[in-house]
Amino acid sequence: MANLTPMMRQYYRIKERYKDALLFFRVGDFYELFNEDAKIASKELGIVLTSRDKKHPMAGVPHHAVFPYIKRLIERGYKVAICEQVEDPSKAKGLVKREVVRVITPGTLIEEELLSKENNYLMSIYKGCKYGIALIDVSTGEFLTTTVDTFDEVIAEILKFTPVECIIPKDFENIEEIKKNIPVVHPLSSDYYDKEECINLLKECITNLNDVDIEKESIFACGSALKYVIESLLVKDIKLRLQKYISKEYMILDSTTLKNLEIFKNLIDGSRRGSLIEVLDKTVTSMGSRLLKRWIQRPLINVDEIDKRLEAVEELYEKSFLRQNLREILKEVYDLERIVSRVEYKKATPKDLVALKDSLKSVEEIKNFNFTSQKLSKIVEELKTLNDVVELIDNAIVENPPLSIKDGGIIKDGFCEELDELRELKENHEKFIKEIEERERKNTGIEKLKVGYNSVIGYYIEIPKSKIRLVPKHYKRKQTLSNVERYTIEELESIEDKILACDEKIKNLEYELFIKIRDKIAERIDEIREVALKIAELDVLATFAEVSVLYNYTKPKVNNGYDIIIKDGRHPTVELNTKFVPNDVTLTKDSRIILITGPNMAGKSTYLRMTALITIMAQIGCFIPAKYAVIGVVDRIFTRIGTVDDITRGYSSFMVEIAEVGQILKNATSKSLILLDEVGKSTGSKDGTSLAWAIVEYIHKIGAKTLFATHYHELAELESILEGVKNYHFRIIEGETLEFDRKIRRGVSKESYGIKIAELVLPKEVVDRAYEVYENLNKEMNGSVKSLLKEIANINTNNLTPIQALIELDKIVKKC
Ligand code: ADP
Repeated sequence: MANLTPMMRQYYRIKERYKDALLFFRVGDFYELFNEDAKIASKELGIVLTSRDKKHPMAGVPHHAVFPYIKRLIERGYKVAICEQVEDPSKAKGLVKREVVRVITPGTLIEEELLSKENNYLMSIYKGCKYGIALIDVSTGEFLTTTVDTFDEVIAEILKFTPVECIIPKDFENIEEIKKNIPVVHPLSSDYYDKEECINLLKECITNLNDVDIEKESIFACGSALKYVIESLLVKDIKLRLQKYISKEYMILDSTTLKNLEIFKNLIDGSRRGSLIEVLDKTVTSMGSRLLKRWIQRPLINVDEIDKRLEAVEELYEKSFLRQNLREILKEVYDLERIVSRVEYKKATPKDLVALKDSLKSVEEIKNFNFTSQKLSKIVEELKTLNDVVELIDNAIVENPPLSIKDGGIIKDGFCEELDELRELKENHEKFIKEIEERERKNTGIEKLKVGYNSVIGYYIEIPKSKIRLVPKHYKRKQTLSNVERYTIEELESIEDKILACDEKIKNLEYELFIKIRDKIAERIDEIREVALKIAELDVLATFAEVSVLYNYTKPKVNNGYDIIIKDGRHPTVELNTKFVPNDVTLTKDSRIILITGPNMAGKSTYLRMTALITIMAQIGCFIPAKYAVIGVVDRIFTRIGTVDDITRGYSSFMVEIAEVGQILKNATSKSLILLDEVGKSTGSKDGTSLAWAIVEYIHKIGAKTLFATHYHELAELESILEGVKNYHFRIIEGETLEFDRKIRRGVSKESYGIKIAELVLPKEVVDRAYEVYENLNKEMNGSVKSLLKEIANINTNNLTPIQALIELDKIVKKC
């Protein structure tokens, strides 16, 4: 330490406290990284590694372009600590004071430059008797908590919210499994889970703590999350509303189902293309887009609430003009949630406040809308216009303010008397400079004499070289350029001091005024967040109406009954790329397990998925792709559909399959909808058939509505054994070429479709031979069964002893 420069000593002192972060150390116009940090940054960012003194490797990035670099680092899982010069270097006595002002991690972003419009959640998981989960999005102020019983449910919550960062106790059992699902996972020491500290943090930071019935595991999950966020943002206090949610109060969509139904991502490349959200997301605000995602994650099960949404969508569907108008206005609303969060963390710029004002003005326009549906009229009625906030910003802040809050130019004339006076004074001084210029021109007789200003040498009198001989004695030389000389005089110096002093006072006063205004607005955060939520709701409801018009959806009838009946249903994403053949679905008490046979590629999976997607769309309150539908509310959708994933998970695919079926049988209720695609396929055909058979019998007892696509034609017999099981099939149109008509029909499909499909690709000779073998096998089967039956019939059961009967039976068994 001793032979280090003072600045490096300062560096080491600060770095000591931020060992786990890359320290961006502000030096003038650059952020510098040193030692190991520099090496990492150089490698990850492709920036040059240098060294001032050969001892300390160093890498730097310019301060005005720092965000893209930070973004890249945090995306790769690094933490970044920003250390600023916290005093004006020109005024510092000795070494400039430096402090870390912010620790940036993926889950604690508030900087607009680093965020996308999606929610950006930090998740905290704690295991006690149950699992406590907390989710914070500091950029929007959303704070959620829940508890779940099993680790599977934890994974389901992860897949629903797709957090970008996760904190967990370092002795958490399933860290590896979490790491597979969340890009950045920080195991934390027990300091973060100190009960007393957690409780204190909750008391300090949660504004509605008395209204939330919070469980033990949630206390730890929420407390650790708050501690982590406060350490990142380096603020003393944050104020958030905690919202407790219970997954079971919504339709449960577990991780497998979200994946299999391609709700948020497709199964092919994991992008949004071809997913349900891609079709539905025509929102015009970021807040709406985020809310839509939340609604899809958690479809409703309360029929009244669903009806209210549907009724609102219907109104906006029918009143096209109103809908278009509303969407036009909503387009003008900025991301209020993000803006108020920046206000809360004291990071909002003057531009943010102008955006807030403009958005609130748009809200005023929405107040004039006349809606008849209950939900819409309630939203509009409760929508607060916050005129005083609009007025405050309008009176105070210029229309096009600069980004910086320290350089003035923010506050309007007429807002503050003192400021107006200072500005006038400054103007007078400037006028006086003009007078000096004219006077000196006259006195010296130099026509080209000019008074000018620059930030390096201040005010000066400029004289062309050719006239130097006319310069009076009392002029002091300041600067020599190629064609001109620059001078000053005492009068000019004193007026310069006055102007600069004025200027400084103006800047300081404007800064103070701005901070005051921002703090005043901070008192209204709760109200603005409420407005933001209402705007988001309007946006999503109008979006549902918009897509319903666009894609020809109709309003479903949703009730508490058992039946799901769909007439001419379509798959919402497949129909956009194909000429879709609509199909009916009838799931009722006496047709509650539908066994579907038919060749590959005939449309079985699509039919299964279509049914589930229509059910989900209905329960989030959207119209649906069908002629009409009655949807008896479903509590959970289970899916067992073969996916690419099975192979990569490391188990045998049979184990995965059976484990998933096990979960279904354990958790399904009579209100559930189950989709099974080809269950039993991954084992031998006898085993497979037997298992599939037993599974159907079991589900039959549970009473869940089920669609079961299968190759096992033997299962068809179940229709005659169990009431409520019905056979359906897809077929190939017989003819020269192979064609599917994609229509679902009652009954079982023919069996030899496999060979028929093979005709497309195999040589004729092979196909002909396959038909021969098929015939023979059938004949053989029939032949041997007949001869066995004959033998049994010939046994004279009247005079057999028990021993002889057993011997006869043994003979028959051996022949089988
Ligand atoms: P299966 O599960 O029987 O093997 P899929 O459901 O995967 O068949 O369907 C195969 C392809 O057929 C799908 O990719 C889809 O493009 C198309 N398809 C399925 N159902 C329909 C339909 N009703 N109308 C039009 N095309 C369909």
